[in-house]
Amino acid sequence: MASSEIPVAQQAGNSPDILVVGGGPAGSTIATLLAERGYDVVLLEKSHHPRFHIGESLLPMNLPLFERLGVKEQIDAIGIIKYGAEFVSPDHDESSHFDFGQALDKSFPHAYEVRRSELDEILFKNAIAKGARGFEGCSVNKVEFPAGTRAQVVSQDEDGKVTEWHPRFVVDASGRETLLSNKFGIKHRNKKHASASVFGHFEGAERRIGKEEGNITLFWFEHGWFWYIPLRDGSVSVGVVCWPYYMKSRKVGMEQFFFDTIALCPPLAKRLQAAKLAAPVTATGNFAYSSERCYGPNYILIGDAFAFLDPVFSSGVLLAMQSAFAGADAVDECLKNPAQASRVLKKFDKTSRYGLKIFSWIIYRMTTPVMRNMFMQPSNQFRLQETLLSVLAGDLYRGTPIRSRLFLFKIIYYLESIAMLKTSYKAWQRRKHSIKDVVSELT
Ligand SMILES: Cc1cc2nc3c(=O)[nH]c(=O)nc-3n(C[C@H](O)[C@H](O)[C@H](O)COP(=O)(O)OP(=O)(O)OC[C@H]3O[C@@H](n4cnc5c(N)ncnc54)[C@H](O)[C@@H]3O)c2cc1C
Repeated sequence: MASSEIPVAQQAGNSPDILVVGGGPAGSTIATLLAERGYDVVLLEKSHHPRFHIGESLLPMNLPLFERLGVKEQIDAIGIIKYGAEFVSPDHDESSHFDFGQALDKSFPHAYEVRRSELDEILFKNAIAKGARGFEGCSVNKVEFPAGTRAQVVSQDEDGKVTEWHPRFVVDASGRETLLSNKFGIKHRNKKHASASVFGHFEGAERRIGKEEGNITLFWFEHGWFWYIPLRDGSVSVGVVCWPYYMKSRKVGMEQFFFDTIALCPPLAKRLQAAKLAAPVTATGNFAYSSERCYGPNYILIGDAFAFLDPVFSSGVLLAMQSAFAGADAVDECLKNPAQASRVLKKFDKTSRYGLKIFSWIIYRMTTPVMRNMFMQPSNQFRLQETLLSVLAGDLYRGTPIRSRLFLFKIIYYLESIAMLKTSYKAWQRRKHSIKDVVSELT
């Protein structure tokens, strides 16, 4: 088995307190936090860090989490500072700019854009440095939960060696592989939000200068939206998230399809006119899904292993890490006080769903004319723009008073939708058509 820098003294055998499946942001975060609390934690990752992963734009509220994990300086060294986001729409003459420094709480004015290969490696190594037993190239193939005893987890390394583990608690952080959700048959694709994504990295693209250099730009176009994420090394990550009917219309190779699609969005094409592709174009299913439950008697599901949202607001890494923080408290309490497990896990469930619910309410209305206007011509009446910025910054968990303001935001949204009933209805019909054909050939 290929193991990473594991002190021999830590190799305590096959019956750890906690076994974490998956060494992405969610898995490495929870492994760090539980190892710091003195638990024997095994962290199994099927790939080897550094490995490619999409999802390079972070949110301001990632920063306090990095700080608590003790990696803030390392992230600072790999990231480019992102002060905000620019939205470009074909239906509006001017682009709109969101500056995190204008959120309700002004003390977290920036986030980062990072290469995930670097971020995820830092987090994984940090888990090992804090005492977790980390194994790379080690895939979990089977998990069983026999009644009244420890879980049984079977992993296989790249040499074919099979290991059986007997942890007290299992954390599924397997990302979009959704190991336990698939096993239990509890994963449901969100029928209202099916899309697919194609992306690539470019060199020589036009970049903003000064404070705006690291900002993400989101370009809407007829068949979906593009991200444009500047990275520290001068390259740019560009991807399109589009509706199933559009993906199905593809008759050329994926790279050509990607370039043809970029040509449908002139403001983006302009920024890329001198750019060269620096890495192969990749396609991925981007279906939003969620699992019926995120816990059982001696397991939890965190990050993408539980649910996945359209990445339009760059919320994935934050939600994954946040669920790892909540999950660490839950696992700790369950192991210390099994009689309280049921109450503790219900609380964990509520926390896990909370952020997903807030982001998804906005995401699923993003195609409506009213929501578009709220983004493209934002007004700060009743501090609504500040509230929206707090949500976009991921400031959902620290007691910043967003709930009542979001309620007001929703009321205004519905009132304006009624005022624009005919246009809203047409947009609803178009969206219904757009999500009709789910692209099943992509995973
Ligand atoms: C097209 C696209 C664009 C995105 N853009 C953004 C963005 O800009 N910003 C953002 O915050 N989020 C973005 N996301 C979402 C983000 O990538 C995820 O939400 C985030 O990676 C979730 O972290 P995680 O730890 O739960 O899962 P992952 O990061 O996927 O980590 C899971 C890990 O588990 C490992 N694994 C899986 N199965 C097994 C197994 N059986 N045994 C052992 N190991 C296993 C995998 O190798 C992987 O390393 C995007 C997603 C997509 C699809």
